[in-house]
Order: sequence, then C-alpha cells, then structure tokens
Amino acid sequence: MPRELLLQVTPEIAANESLLKDYLSKQIKVSPQEIQHIVILKRSIDARQKAIKINLKVIIYLKGEAFQETKIELPLYKDVSSAQEVIVVGAGPAGLFAALQLIELGLKPIVIERGKDVRGRRRDLKAINREHIVNEDSNYCFGEGGAGTYSDGKLYTRSKKRGDVTRILELLVAFGASEDILVEAHPHIGTNKLPKIIEDIRNKIIEFGGQVLFDTRVTDILVKNNEVEGIVTQNGDKILANKLILATGHSARDIFELLDKKKILIEAKPFALGVRAEHSQELIDSIQYSCDYRGEHLPPAPYSIVKQVNGRGMYSFCMCPGGVIAPCATSPGEVVTNGWSPSKRDQATANSGIVIELKLEDFKPFAKFGALAGVEFQKSIEQKAWHLAGRTQKVPAQRMIDFTQNKVSADIPKTSYVPGTTSVEMGQVFPGFLSQILREGFKEFGKSMRGYLTNEAILHAPESRTSSPVRIPRDAYTLEHLQIKGLYPCGEGAGYAGGIISAAIDGEKCALMIAESLK
Ligand code: FAD
Repeated sequence: MPRELLLQVTPEIAANESLLKDYLSKQIKVSPQEIQHIVILKRSIDARQKAIKINLKVIIYLKGEAFQETKIELPLYKDVSSAQEVIVVGAGPAGLFAALQLIELGLKPIVIERGKDVRGRRRDLKAINREHIVNEDSNYCFGEGGAGTYSDGKLYTRSKKRGDVTRILELLVAFGASEDILVEAHPHIGTNKLPKIIEDIRNKIIEFGGQVLFDTRVTDILVKNNEVEGIVTQNGDKILANKLILATGHSARDIFELLDKKKILIEAKPFALGVRAEHSQELIDSIQYSCDYRGEHLPPAPYSIVKQVNGRGMYSFCMCPGGVIAPCATSPGEVVTNGWSPSKRDQATANSGIVIELKLEDFKPFAKFGALAGVEFQKSIEQKAWHLAGRTQKVPAQRMIDFTQNKVSADIPKTSYVPGTTSVEMGQVFPGFLSQILREGFKEFGKSMRGYLTNEAILHAPESRTSSPVRIPRDAYTLEHLQIKGLYPCGEGAGYAGGIISAAIDGEKCALMIAESLK
C-alpha cells in the first residue's frame, strides 16, 4: 500500500527531489532505490520558528506498488451553438466560469464585455502607466479576464467549500496553470501567466458554440413585466434572451447607476478602504523569516496582518510579494491603487493594501444618493486624491512614520508605481476618523511585525476598490434578483464574491441555477 506521510523538512530538502527521497527513505526505513514515486499533496511554509520548515503531505509509492499519473482534463463540453441562449455580462472570472459551466450544462453563453481582449488591453495599461490616459472601457479593472487578469493571481479564498475551490483550481490547471496551485497552501499564478489561460478559456467557449463579444458595453437591461428580455449595447444593438447573468464587477458604476435609475433594487454595502503600503521585499523577508537573507529555497515572503483599532478592523489586503503597485482608475479624474506580481514574484518591492472596514453610517454625508451612497463616498476620496497629487495618474504618497506623525514627507523615493507620486499629507485624502485609525493602526502593526513601521515604507493612496460598494439582492436559493425574473446578479460586483476564486465559484453557481430553472 502506498504510504501517506505528514512531515516537516528544511526548505533545502523540500526544494530538491533527490534530497527529499533520501530523507523519506530514512523515515520509512527503505533504501532510496526502493522508492518509485513521491507525490506531494500539500505544501506550506511554517515560519513560526527561527529555523523555517516546510510542511509537506506526501504519498510514497514503492517499487511494485501500482502508480498512475493523473492528468487533469477538461470536462466533456458539448456543442451548444443552437442551444438556448443565456446572456453573460462581464468576462471576469465570474462571467467566464459561468460561461464554461453553461456550456457544460448544454446552454449557449453570449458573453458581453465592454473591454478589449487580453492582448488589446495591454496597450491601454501602457497608456495609463506612461501617459496618464484612462480608457473607461479598457484598464486594470475592465477587459477580458476582468480585474484579476493583470494581478498577482492569488488563488486563496475564505470559501469553506473545498470541493468548489478544488474544481476551479483544477479547471485552471486544465487550461494551463501549473499543477503547483493544487498543492500550495497559498497558490498564485502571476500576471505573466494569467492572460494565456484567460485566452484559452475564451477560445474554448467559442470552440463549443458560445459567443464572446469585446468592445461591447451594456447600457441598458430590457425588462418587461418584471422579467428580463435582453440588453442594449452602446451602439444601440439589442441582444435578446430571458436569462441574464450580470457579472460586471465592483467598478461598473454605470451598471449600478442604471439599475438604480430603472428602480431595480440595489443596496449600499460596506466595503473597506485605505492605502497601499510598499516596503522592500528584503525587509519583509527579514521580518517574516527572521533572517538577514532569504536564501534560494524560500519564496519572497508574504504577510497578513489584522488589528482592531478604535473598534474597526484594519488589515492587509491583496498583499503582493515581489510585486508592483498598479494604477487602477476606471475613469479620468480619479486615482486608485492595487497591486500585481509576476509568477516568480521577483520584483524588489512588496506591496499590500492596508484597509479599514467601513460601516454604512460612514456614508451618511452622501445619504441623498440612496443605494449609491457608498459609491459616492468611494468616488469622493479617489477624486480628492487625484486633485491633491496634481490631476494626473500620480498618487498622493507619504513615508509611513511621517504619516503617523502628521508630517509631510520631505521627499518620496521612486516606488514601483510607474505613473509616479506626489508628496502629500495623507490626512488630507481621508475623512479624519479614517486617518486617525490608519495612524494608530500602523503603530500597532509595527509592534507585531518589528521593522514594519519604518520611514522607508511608502504609503500610496487610495486603495479603494477592495469590494463592491453595492449589493444587488438575490434570492438565496434561486440566485435570481429579488424583483426581476431571469436576472442573476453574480460575482464581486453584485456583492457575492471577493477575489478570483470566489467570483469563479459564484459564476458557476448562477449557471447551475439557470439550468435548474429551465428543467
Ligand atoms: P471582474 O473581474 O471585475 O469582471 C467584471 C467584468 O465586467 C470586467 O471585465 C468589466 O470590463 C466587465 N463590465 C463591466 N461593466 C460592463 C458593462 N456595462 N458591459 C459589459 N461589460 C462590463 N483577486 C484575487 O483573488 N487574487 C489576486 O491576486 C487579485 N489581485 C488583484 C489585482 C488587481 C490589480 C485588481 C484590480 C484586482 C485583484 N483581485 C485579486 C480582485 C479580483 O480581480 C476580483 O475579485 C475578481 O476579478 C472579481 O471577478 P468578477 O468576475 O466578479 O468581476
């Protein structure tokens, strides 16, 4: 019988197959030659002790024991070109995985995406980085693959349903992601590898009879007698179908405004907001691994930190080891930050959103906007930051200790944020209570992670698109909108996901419920 083993080894042993074989042979008291195959099922880093260990769960096959390589295959898709049509608005993870699931269920997805395909998108990312030009349909949030395409591609989620998560990870592997994502405790893909995977998903949708329309922005949803009839695009074209998955993401303010104007129920939803902090990766490594030099066998260290400050959670969000801060505005006249990393996470800097949980009562100054109060609150901060930093894609920046001491930084060194920074006292960007919590919080962070609170760390503002400021309410079982039959609010924008994996899971769920409703 193959033996399953849980073990802790040094990073060097974990990184070297032959060393691992020797180690395991001693553990199970056989010669290394007798070991036919080692399959790693799980891998995580234990950095709690000074001597860092790698936790492994392995299966060892000895010579003579039946071993078969398992290849992860795509589901058996059927041709759906003449099947019942379902409109999917948005080609982010929610929309794309909804489309794949629809095909698997024998339904034809028509995916409608305002942005360009992954390759076309690159030009617009260059324009925002280099020329400060924001294309309202094609940027870090909008375009094929959605907000997660040019990201760190972290694939962890708080979802408790391991089965759902594994299914999405396996689909990603079948579309070309490394099998490591099935093994790592904190898997990620990286900006350089995601676009090809997204492209392959799109090609599969088309190969099996689905449609994918780029540069097509939905400007109206046709509803008759509280039932969906189809959509209208920016050119006035109508596409008719009575099932519609609305997966437009957290930045599609025009969709929130459209629903509000049409009196289709939406609700304000709390989200989180703050800054993006950048340290040198070397410093984060030394804090997290308690060492001067990370060595060649450990990955650039991530961090995750949360504190309660003045009754609010302040926490790290979307931390990117070895990454870059990206300009994520979706309209001219605003600035927004987020982060990405290449698959090797080999940049010199580590960045993370450091955000504070908001409450609905924080949106009170914008109460006249009703369900859009949170959107207006978010906009006001993004626009103020744009003004303060000089009305380009430069962002307000401040050294961390200077911020905690209300001092404008005398200088800001070059950071990974390509459009550039302007030295601004961050207190001007945020309402007073938020600045106060951030100031206190950074001091607390400095106590837990010694070395974190340093003037070498640079804060960039704002980190404001952490999750949707709106929820589009839906029935908990059918997933249909509470008032509009055939409308399936889906993914992060509707308030049902936070991240690539949970958005993909929600996309699949909506597709399944549509198939169920058609039975
Ligand atoms: P989105 O991905 O936002 O997709 C919505 C799509 O709808 C977009 O493509 C948009 O163009 C389209 N759309 C909007 N309005 C319309 C319209 N009117 N008509 C037609 N199409 C429309 N998450 C992680 O889990 N790990 C990470 O490492 C990570 N890093 C990130 C880095 C960056 C820079 C950003 C911006 C986000 C990151 N996220 C990350 C968050 C993650 O990308 C989102 O949680 C996820 O993409 C949400 O998926 P979604 O499909 O619900 O929406």
